Amino acid sequence: MLYTPGPTAVPPEIREAMARQQPNSAVQAEFTELYERLCANLTTVYDTAHDVVVPGGEGILGLEAAIASLVAPGDRVLCISNGIYGDGFADFVENYDGEPTLVSAAYNEGYDLEAIEAALAEADAHSEPFVAATLVHCETPTGTLNDLGPVLDLLDAYDVLSIVDAVSSLGGTPVPTDRIDICLGASQKCFSAPPGLTTAAISDRAWTAMEAREPTSLYTNLLPWYDISDGFPYTHLDANVAGLEVAVSRLLEEGMESVYDRHERAAERCRERGEELGLELYPDESRSSPTVTAFYMPGEAKTIQQRLEADYDIVLATSLGEYADDILRVGHMGTNAEIEKLEQVMDAIGAVLD
Ligand SMILES: *Cc1c(COP(=O)(O)O)cnc(C)c1O
Repeated sequence: MLYTPGPTAVPPEIREAMARQQPNSAVQAEFTELYERLCANLTTVYDTAHDVVVPGGEGILGLEAAIASLVAPGDRVLCISNGIYGDGFADFVENYDGEPTLVSAAYNEGYDLEAIEAALAEADAHSEPFVAATLVHCETPTGTLNDLGPVLDLLDAYDVLSIVDAVSSLGGTPVPTDRIDICLGASQKCFSAPPGLTTAAISDRAWTAMEAREPTSLYTNLLPWYDISDGFPYTHLDANVAGLEVAVSRLLEEGMESVYDRHERAAERCRERGEELGLELYPDESRSSPTVTAFYMPGEAKTIQQRLEADYDIVLATSLGEYADDILRVGHMGTNAEIEKLEQVMDAIGAVLD
């Protein structure tokens, strides 16, 4: 039983759709229609009036592409962080010769609004504005869901474009996409499809900003996805597109309210069971994500994870970086956001702890 916070278990309907012979993405209109249906259906998941595009490439492609498409050499970018993915955006900015200003908070705290406002005000005062700011909705390695609203208010006030990594929240909990200039998702988290596709909802002003600059890359440039009437920028990952189309249709059939509710209930039950087992949450409960729960167990996470796999055939994840052996993560996302499966996982954690 694969119960990690991505890549997630893939239901048979999605695997079957991917196993079929696919139409040729460069030649057959049938494929373009499938792609366009996928993008249109994704606007419902994103709950947005913005364009949605789906380039071929694992979720990291989207993060890098957002930076590559908006940041010219020398451009300043405000990287707002309280986790590993938040910090990582600053590296992408450097890779594309931009100048990141990293404003970080502790990994178990919310964003530092005062420091963010101070950085924006200082940039304004010196007439060296930020071209964009980066944020992460759900910091998967620490199970933290960030409240984006107050930061987006500040970015609006200073007229700074927003790039949000919503890879592990999109499709599991509401994302305020219409307030975001580039909002990124990926196939292998709450969609329960395999890794391979990035999703991006892009505002008109973000497209305009992309058009105004010289592209510095090909594969990581989002602009060619704006209009695919003359074809895709490169051969599309046809089987992945077919699989994600089924995954998104399944979400729409269930209805997004019900999907979000299912994630909330699974998360709540996970925390309840954790408390009964004497486990400590890593983030404050108010910031704990509906898609992934991070339990803090310093120096024990890997041992427990290995025992769960060896004795119960249940695969969970630990964390990354300095918390690699300190956090055990239960990925109740996508089709795994179900009470019955969750109880089974928590029963096994209890047995291993005993
Ligand atoms: C999974 C994930 C990504 C995509 O990267 P992976 O290589 O699949 O880990 C990006 N951002 C976040 C927050 C993620 O959880």
